[in-house]
Amino acid sequence: MTDHFDVAIIGYGPVGATLANLLERQSRRVLVVDPYAEAYPRPRATHLDGEAVRILQSAGVGEMLAEGLGTYPRMRFEDAEGALLIDWPRSILPGPHGWRDSNRFHQPDLEAALRERAVSSPLITLQLGWRATAIVQDDSAVTIEAMGPDGATTFTADFVVGCDGARSSVRQMLGAELEVLAPPEQWLVADLILHPGAPELPEGTVQYCDPVRPFTYIEGVGRRRRWEVMLRPGDDPTTFAEPDHVHSLLRPWVAPGDAELERATVYTFNSAIATRWRNGRVMIAGDAAHQTPPFLGQGLCAGLRDAANLAWKLAWVLDGRSTASILDTFQAELRPHVAHYITEANRIGAIIQETDRERARARDAMLRAQPQILTPIRPRLGGSGESSADSLAGTLAPQPRLRDGQLLDDKTGLRFVVLSRPGLLGQVTDETRMRWQQADAALLEGEATGYLESIGAQAVIIRPDHYILGTARSAIELDEVTRTIPLAAGGGVQ
Ligand SMILES: Cc1cc2nc3c(=O)[nH]c(=O)nc-3n(C[C@H](O)[C@H](O)[C@H](O)COP(=O)(O)OP(=O)(O)OC[C@H]3O[C@@H](n4cnc5c(N)ncnc54)[C@H](O)[C@@H]3O)c2cc1C
Repeated sequence: MTDHFDVAIIGYGPVGATLANLLERQSRRVLVVDPYAEAYPRPRATHLDGEAVRILQSAGVGEMLAEGLGTYPRMRFEDAEGALLIDWPRSILPGPHGWRDSNRFHQPDLEAALRERAVSSPLITLQLGWRATAIVQDDSAVTIEAMGPDGATTFTADFVVGCDGARSSVRQMLGAELEVLAPPEQWLVADLILHPGAPELPEGTVQYCDPVRPFTYIEGVGRRRRWEVMLRPGDDPTTFAEPDHVHSLLRPWVAPGDAELERATVYTFNSAIATRWRNGRVMIAGDAAHQTPPFLGQGLCAGLRDAANLAWKLAWVLDGRSTASILDTFQAELRPHVAHYITEANRIGAIIQETDRERARARDAMLRAQPQILTPIRPRLGGSGESSADSLAGTLAPQPRLRDGQLLDDKTGLRFVVLSRPGLLGQVTDETRMRWQQADAALLEGEATGYLESIGAQAVIIRPDHYILGTARSAIELDEVTRTIPLAAGGGVQ
């Protein structure tokens, strides 16, 4: 008999592993399929924002991860002569999400933590060594065909999420194409591990804005350091990453004896979004759905946002709380959001990648005069905000500590949260109370009053993915916001 699951996840990278843990925490039965038994061992992402770490906290690996997170004190921009153009400092203290807004980390450590948690759960079945080869869906389920060491097999699931990376085959099976937002750029990525006694290197990240050859230096965790080097016309990508050449490029900073060259690869930095993220019971997330150059360190952060957005919506549909149409809001909410970050990454990339001397001089003058132009604006869900009457709806809620010292998300789990000033919850209608019950909302009265005061609200409703559904200045407004909780008519848990 074919095994049946609530959700089958194709791809056990960081996005698939996070989604598996988020669904498990909502008691869903999950299958994960990946051709490789082990996580990709080489460093990739080095930066996580506070929202991303908060999602990982919700996935149950916050504490495991915290030990390996480093501070991200600053990003400096220097001109061709090494003079400072901009010092862009980042706070090393926890920000509004309960975590620092910028963090250094080692991606294989994160993937190990996610896998350690997943493997211990009876709700998660790992089918590693197996590659998904076909997906067929009908009105009631999806069948996944997979090829592995024992030949071919099939599984069925209510829903499938392709988290199978940039070359996603689920994206093709789903009938989507990649829309290219900007031309690709080739950069060498060289990761080194410093030996004891190696020369002092800068803290944080440095963008060496030399029009002859732009370089990026990144302080990794522990002794890890990365250099990214832009390829110029005429450079041969097949020889550019050879160790002797890499060492010659890095001579201004380290000699070959100062560090072990862990890996050097020429990457193509793509800017692309899939035209379609859902087809019926099949969805794509993470790099399968969008790819960005790493100038803002947002590729994985965006993938984790996908996982957080999908996890509660899938659980709600499986529970019968919402109809399947809520799954259409996944792309509607996050496509404009990720497009904003890709556009911003390209804007900053264009500043760094300027190779014309005259234009580089003008760029340097502009950066010295207007350093604030580097700071990207955090977008809202659906890109809808400006026209919304509630200026905070669709923005990320903070994660305050509650009176008992707990962080908000640890207290509430993956649920809707009604946070209100004292005395307001008793004034709402019976219908509102019933909807909160159907939604299994966490009701917190008299908590985080400083936050509510700061936004001029009596109450706020926060979604399980930490975004604000709406704010209210009265019980009547709280009734109105409650009506927008996406419950199916008569929806309770089935
Ligand atoms: C040099 C570099 C620097 C980066 N820096 C940052 C940064 O600082 N911050 C940041 O947020 N992001 C950064 N990123 C991006 C980040 O690493 C990726 O966005 C992230 O790894 C994508 O995760 P994923 O789970 O979507 O895909 P992947 O990690 O690619 O995982 C996909 C998985 O799917 C599996 N798979 C493929 N096909 C199948 C199939 N048919 N069946 C089953 N399984 C399949 C693969 O084996 C793999 O395990 C960087 C990337 C690079 C390359």
